[in-house]
Amino acid sequence: MADPKALVAGNWKMNGLMASVAEIEKLNALVTEDAAGCDILICPPATLIAILAGKGIDIGGQDCHWDASGAHTGDISAVMLKDLGCRYVIVGHSERRADHGETNDIVRVKAGAVQQQGLTAIICVGETDGEREKGETLDVVTSQLTGSIPEAATADNTVIAYEPVWAIGTGKVPTTDDVAEVHGTIRALLRDRFGDGGERVRILYGGSVKASNAGELMSVPNVNGALVGGASLKADDFYGIIKTYQ
Ligand code: PEP
Repeated sequence: MADPKALVAGNWKMNGLMASVAEIEKLNALVTEDAAGCDILICPPATLIAILAGKGIDIGGQDCHWDASGAHTGDISAVMLKDLGCRYVIVGHSERRADHGETNDIVRVKAGAVQQQGLTAIICVGETDGEREKGETLDVVTSQLTGSIPEAATADNTVIAYEPVWAIGTGKVPTTDDVAEVHGTIRALLRDRFGDGGERVRILYGGSVKASNAGELMSVPNVNGALVGGASLKADDFYGIIKTYQ
């Protein structure tokens, strides 16, 4: 079966003001000029979604509540994200798991809420440095994955992002052999879960991806794109990663 079309997704986290609209316009111009060989997504802070949606680049959410509406001050629902034109929502990012105590059960319910709206859930998994040092990487990723994919998920509304926590924002990256081993393990789990459809699920690598290392990381078997934090904030830097797929 052919590899799925790659997805290069930018996670702006809690960064971006109205002035950042110019970066999306610039990115759109770069991509239009030189057609990209991958799908492109930007997940800006919720404050910018409405203004960035409709500018050409796909826009997604960084998180959502599991309920559609109600008394949850400060939260945003998958229904609201869909209403603004989002097609994807990241769930279970390690910063949500660490800062907000999100467990696999919470991540699974959020992913289910996303998928119920006809959107695609980007479910993040990844080990901490301590877990890696204890040789627990594959066990951690396996239990996060099995615990975070909803019962009703399909191969078409699920994307997995493998993001070693110790590689996020640190400039450190795993070896290509290590990435291949984890992505191969994830692919095998997806095949068990979705049968042949498991081959279609995109598995993104995330953690200090930049233009200078994207070529090597994106050529690893079962790496079908990237989830990019810091290097997605500037159109030129992000485009340097997108160009890996041209
Ligand atoms: C992320 O937080 O999803 C991420 C991959 O960040 P960075 O690219 O900055 O390491």
